[in-house]
Amino acid sequence: MTANFMSMTRASTRYPPIGIERAVDVLGLGAGPRPRWIVVTDLDGTLLDSQDYTATPALPVLRSLARAGIPVVLSTSKTRVEVEAVREELDNRDPFIVENGGAIFAPERLFEDLPSKWECRDGYTALILGTPYADIRAVLGTLRERYRFEGFADIDEDRLRRMTGLSARDAARARCREFGEPIVWRDGSGALTKFTAKLAEHGLTVKRGGRFLHVDGGSDKARALRSLREEYQNLWRCPTRVIALGDSDNDAAMLSAADLAVLVPSTFHSMPVVENPSIMLAAEPGPAGWAGVIGPLVERYLEHDADG
Ligand SMILES: [Mg+2]
Repeated sequence: MTANFMSMTRASTRYPPIGIERAVDVLGLGAGPRPRWIVVTDLDGTLLDSQDYTATPALPVLRSLARAGIPVVLSTSKTRVEVEAVREELDNRDPFIVENGGAIFAPERLFEDLPSKWECRDGYTALILGTPYADIRAVLGTLRERYRFEGFADIDEDRLRRMTGLSARDAARARCREFGEPIVWRDGSGALTKFTAKLAEHGLTVKRGGRFLHVDGGSDKARALRSLREEYQNLWRCPTRVIALGDSDNDAAMLSAADLAVLVPSTFHSMPVVENPSIMLAAEPGPAGWAGVIGPLVERYLEHDADG
């Protein structure tokens, strides 16, 4: 591990990271009935390697989580069709959060007695939080004359492939936006400040992702996390603890809203500042770091099961 990498991990944690003993305490494995757990995880740079987009080192841990009945909720800036492909590959059947908290999609009939805000959409039960894509594109269209930027819709598939390293199929999936537009900023930083203020007048915000800026409205990974915890709590009728994992600024709110936040270091950028006193640090970037934290925690969860 390089000195630079270490300083990056240290600089951005406001709270001192905790060890596994404190973590299992926070997650309710002390005395008394054991709560149930949900894992909510970012994809790129967290569960998926930021270069080849695979989860290989984490696969055995994902199987342990499935055996333990712990849902793994994928929560990402990716689109629904992109996440569907990842779920298929990982054999994941749990609810998922798309486009930075634009919506939660849950398998039909998973939650009973849904509050009225949930709706049926394309074979899922969905909670829509974000502004529809067409509305966002319309606002961006009004700013095109004054600022230099490109949205996904303005970039053809070939160029998008070169920019992201995605395959043709994956680039096409990335363009199926429903709640937000990733943009490439080609103007100055002063212009970006003005652009951000203009978007705010329309209830839209700009978030920095790994490669792009993301323009959306109402999308909220933290609110999505809280809504899901509530639904699972109703379903299971027992206390529920959430472990969230992420690597970048657009995960910060979600990590702050979890019972335990797991920061996965990145080789590209510094870690987000997370307002959560219960933070664990993964020792490595990507799925290897992910598995290094979650693996031992699941073992403790299953041991507790056996003891109980
Ligand atoms: Mg990420």
